[in-house]
Amino acid sequence: MSGIHHVTAIAGRPNVNFDFYTRTLGLRFVKKTVNFDDPGTYHFYYGDEAGNPGTILTFFPWEHAAPGRVGVGQTQTTALRIPAQSIGFWAHRLVEAGAKHEAPIRRFGEVVLEFTDPDGMGLSLIGVPGAENEPAWTTGDIPAEHAIRGFHGVTLMLDSVELTGAILADVLGFTRVGQEGPYVRFKSEGAVGGIVDIREAKGFLPGRMGRGSVHHVAFRAKDDAEQAEIARKLSEVHGIYATEQRDRQYFRSIYFREPGGILFEIATDAPGFTVDEPIATLGTDLKLPRFLESKRQQIEAVLPTLEVAA
Ligand code: ZN
Repeated sequence: MSGIHHVTAIAGRPNVNFDFYTRTLGLRFVKKTVNFDDPGTYHFYYGDEAGNPGTILTFFPWEHAAPGRVGVGQTQTTALRIPAQSIGFWAHRLVEAGAKHEAPIRRFGEVVLEFTDPDGMGLSLIGVPGAENEPAWTTGDIPAEHAIRGFHGVTLMLDSVELTGAILADVLGFTRVGQEGPYVRFKSEGAVGGIVDIREAKGFLPGRMGRGSVHHVAFRAKDDAEQAEIARKLSEVHGIYATEQRDRQYFRSIYFREPGGILFEIATDAPGFTVDEPIATLGTDLKLPRFLESKRQQIEAVLPTLEVAA
């Protein structure tokens, strides 16, 4: 298996983030939990109906986080797939929502609609011919024909393409498929979450992590064995040592910093988001891992109330 598993970013106010991703973009809220390393704060997961790998966008909403700055060594844009004929629908919807957006452009033969979320996170919608035939999560005012179909990919802003490109190609199952201006495209086998573009930006200012920044990009491993093989290749061929495996409840993860400075994660496809609640009610209750269950009362007391969309 290859491709993006999830993207995790830093947000500001939880309710603003929740409202934008569930109402404006119409993603499904698939898990309400806490940051396992900072359990007084939320960890939100959005995705398709089941939160399948390749559709999962997650946030650490830290109400008082200082704004980040996009720069070298950071993820510049997270791109979401929509049907090619839905660009007009979304341009109109972003105007109505008051979201900051650019006029559509064309890159690698695709129509790209760039915009930012309320925390300034760089996003884009990519019009993909045929995406209308892929499954979609729908909400009241976004019909299935226009709904988001998971990730198209990410754009990484880096000093140089080569070292990171080698990790993508040798270890993560991507193939270098083209270049357009400063953008070099890498593609994996899957349609959903299958693109990594590297924007070569030598001499640009380094990025600063904060509100609106992508914290890390996670790639897929189908199981523990494939993940262990990735770790082995990273160390033996590239001299990069990943962390020990951590249990993230919905997947098992290892982490490493790629040569350009961005935090990468390798996450297993299993067990997924239905491990602790049924698919019909995903995202309804606050879910805690077993080691935090004894602290539920204290945790619930400090988390802000969240309006769950009907
Ligand atoms: Zn992650």
